[in-house]
Amino acid sequence: MDLASVPVTRLKGVGPKLADKLKRLKISSLQDVLFHLPLRYQDRTRLVPIAELIPGIEVMTTGVVVTCEVLFRRRRSLLCVIADQQGNQLALRFFHFNQQQQQRLRVGVQVQCYGEVRRGPQLLEMVHPEFQTLAANVSASISDDALTPVYPVTEGLHQLSMRKITDAALQQLRSSDVQELLPLSAQHAANHSVSLKKALITVHRPDSSDDIDALLQGKHAAVQRLVLEELVAHRLSVQQIRNAIKKQRAPLLKPSGNLPQQLISSLPFTLTNAQLRVIEEIRADIGSGLPMLRLVQGDVGSGKTLVAAAAAACVVDSGYQVAVMAPTEILAEQHLLSFSSWFDPLGVKIGWLKGKLTAKQKRAELESIASGQARIVVGTHALFQQDVVFKDLGLTIVDEQHRFGVHQRLSLREKGVAGNIVPHQLTMTATPIPRTLAMTSYADLDYSVIDELPPGRQAITTVAIPNARRVEVIERVAQAVKEGRQVYWVCTLIEESDALQASAAEDTCVELQEYLADTRVSLVHGRMHATEKEAAMQQFKNHHTDLLVATTVIEVGVDVPNASLIIIENAERLGLSQLHQLRGRVGRGHKQSSCVLLFEQGLSQRARDRISTLRESNDGFYIAERDLELRGAGEVLGTRQTGAAQFRIADLMRDKTLLPTVKNISDDITEHHPENIMPLIMRWLGEESPEYGNV
Ligand code: ADP
Ligand code: MG
Repeated sequence: MDLASVPVTRLKGVGPKLADKLKRLKISSLQDVLFHLPLRYQDRTRLVPIAELIPGIEVMTTGVVVTCEVLFRRRRSLLCVIADQQGNQLALRFFHFNQQQQQRLRVGVQVQCYGEVRRGPQLLEMVHPEFQTLAANVSASISDDALTPVYPVTEGLHQLSMRKITDAALQQLRSSDVQELLPLSAQHAANHSVSLKKALITVHRPDSSDDIDALLQGKHAAVQRLVLEELVAHRLSVQQIRNAIKKQRAPLLKPSGNLPQQLISSLPFTLTNAQLRVIEEIRADIGSGLPMLRLVQGDVGSGKTLVAAAAAACVVDSGYQVAVMAPTEILAEQHLLSFSSWFDPLGVKIGWLKGKLTAKQKRAELESIASGQARIVVGTHALFQQDVVFKDLGLTIVDEQHRFGVHQRLSLREKGVAGNIVPHQLTMTATPIPRTLAMTSYADLDYSVIDELPPGRQAITTVAIPNARRVEVIERVAQAVKEGRQVYWVCTLIEESDALQASAAEDTCVELQEYLADTRVSLVHGRMHATEKEAAMQQFKNHHTDLLVATTVIEVGVDVPNASLIIIENAERLGLSQLHQLRGRVGRGHKQSSCVLLFEQGLSQRARDRISTLRESNDGFYIAERDLELRGAGEVLGTRQTGAAQFRIADLMRDKTLLPTVKNISDDITEHHPENIMPLIMRWLGEESPEYGNV
């Protein structure tokens, strides 16, 4: 039976409604379910006594309900306090609850719960823990002897249903098999003797005999078997694209006027040598008649946007249009503002496309793009919708490309000029991937580095302060605001849920507002309407507000040079590269900037090492390397950190030693089993889809 052709609806309990939700996760066949791999694992193999709980860990614990009441503070909530026999207490807090849940948590009932421990106003607490109540004569016990998988989910589809669905799919798998698409040579490769079937079963449902640390660190043979296949699939896909491109031509662009020069001389600063060098590389590419596929990498703040603008100027000057695509609306909006401020004075019309334009606006924009009136079009993934037709697209620029999958990135090329002529493509990223690695993994791209920051930048001072001294930090914010500086306050939560993230940010916003009565505060989180988000960002950019309270939505690219202080809450939970990105929101102007990492007490040694790495260095490459060394073993991080959102299980940094094997296997397949190429690509990359997840 070919699992790729069995629809999910064949599984028990999966009706058309559920199938629709699964489709949003790009799951439509049984094979898709099996390759929908856990993001991470939870450890429910131990029952941790309340006395041993520390903030930041996700654990199973137990206690007897001592109080349970509905509170009417800023938001209605249910607060239930449980205690162990020694009287140690833990609060369970629910913002969404029903009568029945409230009933179940009666005083005197024994509860066993699982959740992330946080510091609450009085007690340690768990927000929305999973819980079960135990009958009077039953003592708490651990039913799990292995790790619990956590899957990527979507609105209306919860972990538990996802687990049921994968259970059902795994049952099917046990009685059949999944097609091995890697040649024998792969099975001989050291360490990869696990069959695909066994690997899938292990990764979905680790066994009590499996090495927990190896699984958490991604070093387990089962994980590595899947990683190998995923990397092979990506390499093959990139090669397919490359082969297709080799057959194509791109417009031969020779700037005829002096638009690039005009742009550069209108700036209040001079370009760095690194910027000039990269612009020259791009100019050479687009003048060659062959399609450019260039990746520009530069650390946060290195000035990638201007390189993009200069490239755009060259292309516009040669008579072609340019599309500039950013992964989030906030970022797209910002590019729109920068590009407009640079190009409006030069008489170059900028178009604008995003998901939520009114029908009328959209029609006008589409017309101006189709007629060629808009010379540069800035937008989100809305740019590659079907109805967008360019008159003469010569270059696509994709910012922060690690946020897009290879296929999304490349589907913009299809917007190009007729026949065999495709547009040039420039992609930009701040994700520090060492050069050799980038060459291998992005085999389709040429590679430029902006290895120099604009002059006058001062190193960002980074300090770590325990949350117990939060009030001091707030005073520091007040002081900075008084000096006319602007401040970011970043709220982080480990929960996957947007709703909880948003409510944490809202709470913090209210809290800060209470302390900082005269401070003008903006709030941005993923649950807000795009227009509200933009309005808030805009206020902050224009310095109509002093403090921006935000979730990690501001992690990529936001540029407000006047902001010189950033506070990052729960810093111990974020990956180093993500912290580096966040910190890069400051230090963009001439002011001495600071970053305060707020952390919970009781840090592990590893967490302390990570924080000191950030304090030691402002170099994204160094930090990425250290990130890799320090990651792993029992540390639960939200998602894989470095390198890309486009991998399901591979991590380029972690798995770099596999790359030579990946190359050999790919070559073997291309030469001896070309019929397996498309099935492999489909299995791992799926259909190209213009859907892009929320910020
Ligand atoms: P990133 O590489 O992180 O995308 P940006 O393009 O947002 O960086 O640039 C960061 C800031 O530096 C912007 O405010 C930009 O105007 C400014 N900038 C860019 N190039 C230079 C330069 N050569 N000299 C001074 N400031 C520059
Ligand atoms: Mg940028």
